[in-house]
Amino acid sequence: MSLAISPSRASDYQQCPLMYRLKAIDKLPVPKTEAQVKGTLVHAVLEEMFAWPREERTFPAAVKRLRPAWARMREEDAGCAEPVADEMQLLIDARELLRGYFHLESPLGFDAHAQEMRVEAVLPNGVPVRGFIDRVDVAPTGEVRVVDYKTGKMPKPQYSMTAKSQLRFYGLVYWRLTGVIPAQLKLMYLKAMDSMILFPSREELEYFERDLGDLWAKIVADGAAGSFRPTTSKLCGWCTFQDLCPAFGGTPPPYPGWPGSAADGSTVRFNGS
Ligand code: SF4
Repeated sequence: MSLAISPSRASDYQQCPLMYRLKAIDKLPVPKTEAQVKGTLVHAVLEEMFAWPREERTFPAAVKRLRPAWARMREEDAGCAEPVADEMQLLIDARELLRGYFHLESPLGFDAHAQEMRVEAVLPNGVPVRGFIDRVDVAPTGEVRVVDYKTGKMPKPQYSMTAKSQLRFYGLVYWRLTGVIPAQLKLMYLKAMDSMILFPSREELEYFERDLGDLWAKIVADGAAGSFRPTTSKLCGWCTFQDLCPAFGGTPPPYPGWPGSAADGSTVRFNGS
């Protein structure tokens, strides 16, 4: 599959280009965490719930679906239970996240226009983008709201730019795919029972698109040179690639080349170069 920018990949590159390379280009496996498994479970129940008649979308009804949803997840991927230390605790935590959801909004009064919407496009500036939008709502008056559920902690104000960038990313991609600028971009922090809402303007999204273009150009340049530098930070403690990282005495595997290019590099073509 050809490379494309997603919010998480953009954030990876901004944190550490080598980490980006090892994930996106070398495609080294990254073990799932319990928090990710919990997030997937809660997302699955919320997605299922919006397919029910409005009056049935209650907190107790959603909680009842946690066990079946968890059983289905394990059926589809037995490995998803590996990082889970205590299944009962997982279900209890997931129930609290659902409680957070119902604290933030009532699903009784509206339907989801789309859920788990896969978006993929090449922006007008040549940047390939890809991602999933958790939910799109369309008001009777036509305004669009793009919604993303977060099951982790709410970031401290000084780290909120990443969250805002993620919202703008989905706002931009939705606009470029449909021609409609969402009236509202909403991140729902289920654990913190709080939301971040942006009301994007065309200028704001165009500005963000230029930023994304600059970021993609840097990735392409690193890809052409085969040089993705390690950038250490406090977050290295959570990086699964420390053993392969020169900053920690390791050696990365040989650069496999840009996806889709010939092994000897003779036919390398880069978007935007
Ligand atoms: S350990 Fe730190 S510097 Fe090394 S690859 Fe991971 S994030 Fe980058």
